[in-house]
Amino acid sequence: LTEKLEKALKKITGQGKITESNISETLREIRRVLLDADVNYKVAKDFIEKVKEKSLGQEVINSVTPGQLITKIIYDELVELLGNQSSELEVNPNGLTTIMLIGLQGSGKTTFSAKLAKYLKNKKQNVLLVAADVYRPAARSQLKILGSQINVPVFSIDESNDPVTISVESLKYAKENGLNTVIIDTAGRLHVDDEMMIEAAKIKERVKPTQTLFVVDSMTGQDAVNSAKAFHEKVDFDGVVLTKMDGDSRGGCILSIRAIVDRPVKFVSLGEKLDSLELFYPDRMASRILGKGDIVSLVEKAQAQFDEKEAEDLEKKFRENKFDLDDFLKQIKMIKKMGSLKSLLGMIPGIGSQIKNADVDDKQLIVVESIIQSMTKQERANPKILNGSRRKRIARGSGNTIQDVNRLIKQFEQMQQMMKMLNKNSGKFNLPNMKN
Ligand code: GDP
Ligand code: MG
Repeated sequence: LTEKLEKALKKITGQGKITESNISETLREIRRVLLDADVNYKVAKDFIEKVKEKSLGQEVINSVTPGQLITKIIYDELVELLGNQSSELEVNPNGLTTIMLIGLQGSGKTTFSAKLAKYLKNKKQNVLLVAADVYRPAARSQLKILGSQINVPVFSIDESNDPVTISVESLKYAKENGLNTVIIDTAGRLHVDDEMMIEAAKIKERVKPTQTLFVVDSMTGQDAVNSAKAFHEKVDFDGVVLTKMDGDSRGGCILSIRAIVDRPVKFVSLGEKLDSLELFYPDRMASRILGKGDIVSLVEKAQAQFDEKEAEDLEKKFRENKFDLDDFLKQIKMIKKMGSLKSLLGMIPGIGSQIKNADVDDKQLIVVESIIQSMTKQERANPKILNGSRRKRIARGSGNTIQDVNRLIKQFEQMQQMMKMLNKNSGKFNLPNMKN
């Protein structure tokens, strides 16, 4: 009976490690969430598999359940998957930046071209919109109306039916009129067809755009993935624009698109209004796909508290002169979790610029960490017992020199001396001249 009780308690407080059994339900749930968000079946399966491998054996910290922790792990993986490439729009630094938009009809190319024009205009660029959709009668006038709303010139040759000529001419026009950014809005069909692909590829070949962006309707699920694949094979593009994210789309198609064509999302379009454009934020997208922002922040908070508690424990040990190398190791790990030493120092106002070129050596932390890890528990508690041959072994085992080991032990002994002195002052460090 007690064993059962213990098990139940474990489930509630979430102590212990992540195991197959305590996460299987959560994994199933998350897989369903991903499928609901339009993530391709196989992509979801592979993704969950990867996350499972990563999480098994992870320690579960106070006050969160394994299920919550796994959600956080999945979230982190998603952010990484979505964001390991920069989402900055590439510009041609000395000359004309040309951006070509491709995608199916109705995906939101024309709307996006105007949004992008507005966005770039606000960044002090001189923009030209190009009406290269010659098939839909209303296409040119649609772009002209949008252009006039934002005060951006629209290039069009109303008597020409050749999008390649229009595009090439537009570049000349831009150069002659001192414009530095050209956005080419091309035609699309309702479905992928060869003729459209050949035409887009031709424009691309002649214009040699700085960036080609594939515009895709996030509501179209599996279709979005298929068209991405076709455009990638026949035309290729540098980035993706996800439109209609103001609806209830969870945007999961972007995961499938990444898995299949590995191109970053550059922008997210959130409505018909011309300022409803956002740069792409991987964390927002990950929350949206999971729909579990609350759990993520909960786990983050719990982790922060956990660190705080650990810090308190360490401080107490420090005060009681019980701080040993094992505690030292814990502290190093905490520092590492917070980022590199240099970036931490860089956040302190007034220091950032001064250390830009200074040599703040994170490698030293790694050396110390590896040395301590090669020691036994007793040695960590009492480094005095380390004789010459043990020091040599530790150096070899951790891939460092014996000088490194000696230096660490010496530094630690000095630190202990300091601790003793500080603690004589009943834990308070009184600076001279500052007594009240
Ligand atoms: P194109 O055929 O690719 O040029 O697509 P359009 O730009 O003409 O857009 C097709 C339709 O989708 C239009 O009715 C737009 O108003 C609408 N649309 C475009 N982008 C968005 C968006 O981000 N959100 C919403 N709700 N509608 C959009
Ligand atoms: Mg259009």
